Amino acid sequence: MEAGIVGLPNVGKSTLFNALTESKSAASENYPFCTIEPNEGVITVPDDRLDKITTYITPQKVIPAVVKLVDIAGIVKGASEGEGLGNKFLSHIRAVDAILQVVRCFEDPDVIHVSGQVDPMADIETIEMELMLADIESLQSAQQKAGKTARSGNKEAIERLAVIDKCLAHLESETPLRKLELTEPEEKCIRSFGLMTLKPLLYVANVSEDDVEGTSELATKVREYAAGVGAGFVAVCASIESELAEVPAEDRGEMLDAYGLKEPALNVLAREAYRTLGLQSYFTAGEKEVRAWTVPVGTAAPQAAGVIHTDFEKTFIRVNVFTLDDLVEHGSENEIKNAGKLRVEGKAYIVQDGDICHFLCN
Ligand code: GDP
Repeated sequence: MEAGIVGLPNVGKSTLFNALTESKSAASENYPFCTIEPNEGVITVPDDRLDKITTYITPQKVIPAVVKLVDIAGIVKGASEGEGLGNKFLSHIRAVDAILQVVRCFEDPDVIHVSGQVDPMADIETIEMELMLADIESLQSAQQKAGKTARSGNKEAIERLAVIDKCLAHLESETPLRKLELTEPEEKCIRSFGLMTLKPLLYVANVSEDDVEGTSELATKVREYAAGVGAGFVAVCASIESELAEVPAEDRGEMLDAYGLKEPALNVLAREAYRTLGLQSYFTAGEKEVRAWTVPVGTAAPQAAGVIHTDFEKTFIRVNVFTLDDLVEHGSENEIKNAGKLRVEGKAYIVQDGDICHFLCN
């Protein structure tokens, strides 16, 4: 699962991406399965629950969850027709699972805006339009292919064609597919097209230093728009965050206070990106390590175990589960068991966000 950062030139993408990957570059030895390209970064997802768990269980290591980010540079007006990096850019977006769009809400006469003035709503419209045009193009070519097969009476192709037509009609009314209601079979049938306006979206408003909460008129417009189109929203001041990222973690407190921040906004951004990707964490807690493991919402216990080791999915027998509240109340897994609160769950169990799991496998 990975999220791609997009945005018009000069909105602060690189500044944010560098701050994110600099301050949080996760210890790569813990994630040997990730190959990291130059425009990719792995960021940790700060989670208070890990700190709480380690007040009861003292491990040798604490390993938080991570999100992979891809910096997708190069969108400009006309990208869908091959302007700028055009098609290459679009193929990068097709490959990610969610989109983080940075929009400029800060005024700074020294930083040129590509269209001459700071207007986040116009920027949003420009990018949305390029993505819709590209989706229309993908769907039209799929329509041709499905059309041929459908004419020979192929049932699957006839069904696919109906969904393609439905999506095209929606896009032609200038609305992103995110707002279109699709049944699960319909969604499945177009999943392989990599449609971009169907991907979960998080707007990252790059706000001025004096508007860290994003309450200015410009940021408010973006927040309200995001809520209306089913997208997430987070306000971040990239220049503050890049300063913060250069300061050792233990020295950040004073700077945060000075800016009126409770924690770096990048922490909020990392958590929101995780949520936008539809991810959640369960924990394992032992003396060796306390660790957050990442699973999509709705994952069953055997598949969740498979994230730790692929064999565990097949050899899964059962899982002992407790919650952080149980741990706070009773102090240890043993005491939770003695109190009759340790749940034993089988293969059909759907893992919940925050579960502390102890898997038993063959
Ligand atoms: P990108 O083209 O979207 O990757 O934008 P950059 O990250 O390269 O930023 C473009 C310019 O805007 C650089 O000169 C940054 O220093 C500046 N910049 C980025 N974020 C902020 C911000 O929050 N406030 C101010 N004043 N300048 C910023």
